[in-house]
Amino acid sequence: MVLAPLKASALTAGPAACANLTNYLGSSKVNSNQLSLQYINTREDYWNAVQSNYAPSCIIYPSSAQDVSVALQGIRAARSRFAIKAGGHNPNTYFSSVDAGVLIDLGSMTDMLYDSETTLATYEPGSDFGHLYNYYVQFNRTVVGARLAGVGTGLALGGGLSFLSPQYGMACDGFRELEVVLPSGEIVTASNTNNPDLFFAMRGGGGNAYGVVTKYTVQSRQIGEFYAGNIIYLFNQTTAVAEAIQNFIQYNDNPKASIIGTYEMLPTPSLGLDLDRAVIMFLVHDGPDAGDVFQNFTKIPSLINTLGIKTYPEVANMPISMETELSRGDNIFRVGVHRIGDGSYMTALNNWFNWAESNKGSYVLSSIDFQPIPRSLTDASKSQGGNAMQMPDGPWFWVNYLISTPPGMSQEDYNAAQASFRELVANTTNAEGLPLFINDASYDQNPLSTFSTYSKLQGIKKKYDPDNFFADYTGGWSFE
Ligand SMILES: Cc1cc2nc3c(=O)[nH]c(=O)nc-3n(C[C@H](O)[C@H](O)[C@H](O)COP(=O)(O)OP(=O)(O)OC[C@H]3O[C@@H](n4cnc5c(N)ncnc54)[C@H](O)[C@@H]3O)c2cc1C
Repeated sequence: MVLAPLKASALTAGPAACANLTNYLGSSKVNSNQLSLQYINTREDYWNAVQSNYAPSCIIYPSSAQDVSVALQGIRAARSRFAIKAGGHNPNTYFSSVDAGVLIDLGSMTDMLYDSETTLATYEPGSDFGHLYNYYVQFNRTVVGARLAGVGTGLALGGGLSFLSPQYGMACDGFRELEVVLPSGEIVTASNTNNPDLFFAMRGGGGNAYGVVTKYTVQSRQIGEFYAGNIIYLFNQTTAVAEAIQNFIQYNDNPKASIIGTYEMLPTPSLGLDLDRAVIMFLVHDGPDAGDVFQNFTKIPSLINTLGIKTYPEVANMPISMETELSRGDNIFRVGVHRIGDGSYMTALNNWFNWAESNKGSYVLSSIDFQPIPRSLTDASKSQGGNAMQMPDGPWFWVNYLISTPPGMSQEDYNAAQASFRELVANTTNAEGLPLFINDASYDQNPLSTFSTYSKLQGIKKKYDPDNFFADYTGGWSFE
């Protein structure tokens, strides 16, 4: 994302906000020392490593909603740029990163609770989902969240697609009450009865737009054993796997079964052996007996098959634990959305495949992931009141495209690689009437404008951010 160059006043606004906030919050919660371990850890901890180049004037580590409120008021008074960071996995620059401004790192807010009477789970925003799953599994419960352990809680504000979503809807569908610090600094609750418009927008209408969530109360779900694993195929099985995935998207009606199909390409030459590419399936069944639900995948000859009984935390660490950390790099996502049965699956796959073959010099990894949205998911969403996407009935699917560019690439080459990647995705026409997935979108895809609720969200944004404080001083989705 390109922001206008900072004016002299903007360059001094960050340090001014930091000096003021150090007085209010104390030096244990405001760190301006770029050489300290705490500052370095926060700055390094982005999945898109490009964001680690930015140097915030200071990093605030709030421990309560009150601290966040003070921070926002101090930032506003100094007219400083800022960013709110939870897990740091959104690849869009300036969404949870800031240069010469104030970074609010929510990572110290890690309280979590389970209420066995109501079966509600309450958690603060600073843990990643792996930590939440590890905690709730002791009650044989979980919260609906990321498929990979390392992703942060900002995921749910963008909807949140989980292996459990075909049963329970998106992560945001499970919200029951949120504690929110508004752009004004006021601390409010949002639920079906309190500030219901805010509650609606925060269920999948994006983070860092309407306020900062400092506490999530969500419906927890019962879990036990899973039958789950990865199957890795050589690329000569592409056609068979593509058929199995399409068949699953279109016909699977078992909500306990969930998949992601991912095709990966490395920059090394194929050498006629297809050693530069692989297809990796994630297959997850909630319950130890999956019956024959994955047989279309298991009957295809494969290189590796790790299907077996797993706990939920083990499922979130497939294929290897720490995957989100290990896959850190100069990573950018883009997203597409399609209906099944109209040929668009193969169009998207072939377009990506041709692009990946002819752009070998410009990435260290490229992948395309197919993510089914079954009817059971959209029904589960509706039965809990629906979310900001008001998801039309499944089946349909989201496509996530990834490019990871070589570190140290010149800005010119980086821009050219991103432009070509943008063109690849833009040239693969999306289905009409379906929402682009915020969590997989690039900032320039304007995903909110694809929601049927867009004008309603624009109104809610205006109401809760009336003087454009968030709109003007932090990155995020466009409401224009
Ligand atoms: C390896 C990987 C795996 C992924 N897997 C999944 C998946 O299974 N399902 C899925 O749906 N998505 C997935 N995603 C996408 C992911 O959901 C988004 O990148 C999401 O934005 C990450 O949230 P975060 O807290 O880690 O990131 P951050 O970058 O810290 O936050 C994301 C956005 O939300 C804002 N935000 C965060 N917390 C708050 C808050 N408390 N209040 C207000 N604003 C806030 C931030 O400012 C930022 O704009 C994955 C991404 C990666 C890189």
